[in-house]
Amino acid sequence: MVTDVVNANELHKIDPVFGQHSFDNHEQVVFCNDKDTGLKAIIGIHNTVLGPALGGTRMWNYENEWEALNDVLRLSRGMTFKSAITGLNLGGGKAVIIGDAKTQKTPELMRKFGEFVHSLSGRYITAEDVGMTTADMDTVREVTPYVTGISESLGGAGNPSPITAYGVFMGMKAAAKYKFGSDVLEGKSVFVQGIGNVGEALVEHLVDEGAHVTISDISQERLEEVRSKYGVSIYGGKDIYSEPMDIYAPCALGATINDDTVQKIKAQVIAGAANNQLAVEQKHGKILQERGIVWAPDFLINAGGIINVYAELEGYDRKEIMRKTENIYNTTLEILNNADKNKVTTNTAALNIAQARIDARKNENSK
Ligand code: NAD
Repeated sequence: MVTDVVNANELHKIDPVFGQHSFDNHEQVVFCNDKDTGLKAIIGIHNTVLGPALGGTRMWNYENEWEALNDVLRLSRGMTFKSAITGLNLGGGKAVIIGDAKTQKTPELMRKFGEFVHSLSGRYITAEDVGMTTADMDTVREVTPYVTGISESLGGAGNPSPITAYGVFMGMKAAAKYKFGSDVLEGKSVFVQGIGNVGEALVEHLVDEGAHVTISDISQERLEEVRSKYGVSIYGGKDIYSEPMDIYAPCALGATINDDTVQKIKAQVIAGAANNQLAVEQKHGKILQERGIVWAPDFLINAGGIINVYAELEGYDRKEIMRKTENIYNTTLEILNNADKNKVTTNTAALNIAQARIDARKNENSK
């Protein structure tokens, strides 16, 4: 039985790997264990038709291994469609390391993880995600060439987050154009949930354009820092999902559009950086569509980061990175119009276009 479950407490009821909806025909799932360093990691390789599976490594203190497995499968699948829709010759993969990035991450652990990546001979190429830094990728680089997102001094493209934020900003403007008839965000109320690397850079673009920005984060220190830098408001209420706003930008973790929130959301547009924002894609995408809320597909508008690391493999310069990232505006508008025309959710419209590219390549390859 294939089931779509995001609640970790329910996961034991289904087959853990092949039975998960998020498994969705993964080519390979690798469990990495090292007693000496305490490394427990999972690498998901979803699809390599378009190229090697590239996707970041997330280090997170998961409640249990089921939750970690579910996360990596959902994330690696998302990478397949992200690269496909962005026009990159990359497959989809992702890795998670189980543990607290603040207290359990050591150079030894990162090198050991790098050795596991190396053992896959380039089928999977890593980069940073939540809980990882450019310096961590530099450590991985000591043991394998199959890593991107390394320091500029080592030939890398540096921190991808500002580029991701720019792409999200482009996608948000396109969604605003579709919904409000103008892509000018001046005067629009925008709620940015999670003001980490991407969230903060997005706040800067929004403030520059004259949007009314409200922020939330679990870190009080970050909130104060970003408020004092940009003069934005900190959310003081108890339930952000019930707040009236023009645009909701989820920039923390995924699955914030779920059974508890989807009927309450008052925003007219949702456009943010977080991966896998829809807890159950089909169900929650459909409810948003029925409620007239425009959801800009996350895997499309947060592709700036992958464009940036792809440049390391292809040798693009900054200008080309920015051009490709800016093009997220056109692709988003095209997908929103396509969804409207074909009476499907924006998620389905985007997935169909991405899948068509993968299928076409598969056909070419088999000739
Ligand atoms: P980050 O770790 O720098 O920031 C995440 C922020 O969210 C932190 O400040 C954290 O305190 C906050 N947060 C966590 N839980 C929260 C909650 N419940 N409510 C409010 N805030 C909360 O991560 P990032 O690099 O900025 O990435 C943000 C999101 O975008 C992630 O989902 C990531 O997977 C996705 N993403 C990032 C990139 C990139 O280039 N960094 C690319 C694509 C997608």
